[in-house]
Amino acid sequence: MDDVDRAKERELEHRRLSVESELASHVETEAPLIINGERCCVDCREQIPMERLAARPNSVRCIECKEIREQKQKGYR
Ligand SMILES: [Zn+2]
Repeated sequence: MDDVDRAKERELEHRRLSVESELASHVETEAPLIINGERCCVDCREQIPMERLAARPNSVRCIECKEIREQKQKGYR
């Protein structure tokens, strides 16, 4: 019986953690801009390089715009 309880507890914990990470990633994720079927940067509308999408499938910005945005965000703090 103890094993069953522990397994249930672990399952609940696992579910809680996956919900939390889902919420966290939701904050980071913005709707991608798609032009002519290509993923494009939401800021400058340039096509996002394939290598970047391969490394970061959730990217909605090109590297340049991402860096500009990160610098702006740092500046606000
Ligand atoms: Zn851009």
